[in-house]
Amino acid sequence: MLLFYFGCCLGSFLMVVATRLPIGEDFLVSRSHCHHCQKTLRFYELIPLFSILFMKFRCSACQKRIPITYLLVECLYGFLFFIVFKSLIGSIALVYFIWITMAFLLSLTDLFYWIVEPKILYPFGCLLWSLLYLFDWSFYPATLIFLLLVAFLIYFFLQAYFGFGDMLLLLFWGPWFTIHQLFILLFVASLSGLIISYLYSRLTQQSINHLPFVPFLSLGLLFLLFF
Ligand SMILES: [Zn+2]
Repeated sequence: MLLFYFGCCLGSFLMVVATRLPIGEDFLVSRSHCHHCQKTLRFYELIPLFSILFMKFRCSACQKRIPITYLLVECLYGFLFFIVFKSLIGSIALVYFIWITMAFLLSLTDLFYWIVEPKILYPFGCLLWSLLYLFDWSFYPATLIFLLLVAFLIYFFLQAYFGFGDMLLLLFWGPWFTIHQLFILLFVASLSGLIISYLYSRLTQQSINHLPFVPFLSLGLLFLLFF
């Protein structure tokens, strides 16, 4: 339970990073504030999970509703954190932790701003590659070559259809999987993306003209890592 809660706290911090980093706001020093009335939150309003429940999903100053998604996202990360450190040990736990954190942060920046934030992608990508290399994970040059060819095609011909940020992300993740596994990842991502956009358009009667794809790629990644 403590492990889950610690994960939620970390998830709460990552949420702050993902909302502030892409727009150049400081995320270490400046205090959290209500996005509506700008009131700085007091320390007892900053306790992950409990504060938001205690305040009944409203800002204590302006009564503006705080979206429940914040809570769900924190819990989701808490849950993943719990699973990783409960079921795995040593280097594998560390690799999974870094990999999932990278996926989590980039999914959020894609959802909030429709970008695969380079300030997260490159540092985390390099860290991930160093760890995977250090701990002797299998590297698949064939997958890398295949991805480079696809990246080349997308860059010159298909950029209107497939975000190049998504492609860069696949270049970081893909070479550590076989081509077969890579196709499973893409299949899970596309299928879940299709289902969600179908449900979304049925429920809201609006069509999605831009689907953030990183959350679905991350789902594909989780599928590969855990099954
Ligand atoms: Zn407020």
